[in-house]
Amino acid sequence: MAHECDDICRDLHLYLDGEATVSTRTVISVHLEECPSCAHVFRFESQVRLVVARCCAEPVPDSLRVRVLQAIYTADP
Ligand SMILES: [Zn+2]
Repeated sequence: MAHECDDICRDLHLYLDGEATVSTRTVISVHLEECPSCAHVFRFESQVRLVVARCCAEPVPDSLRVRVLQAIYTADP
């Protein structure tokens, strides 16, 4: 892996979180265009983030909340 790839990988999470500066974003997006291995890492990381975001955004259904609360209360002696 080239030296530039190390830098890209280090800053990739900032890029994915939207916290990278404009210049870093530009460097990364240009690099992703021409570096298949970093592009692969980027796709993988963004998929992971999508799944995690979806799981965290999912509200716990009321029925499940009630069941959990009942289990806690009935377990009490
Ligand atoms: Zn690279």
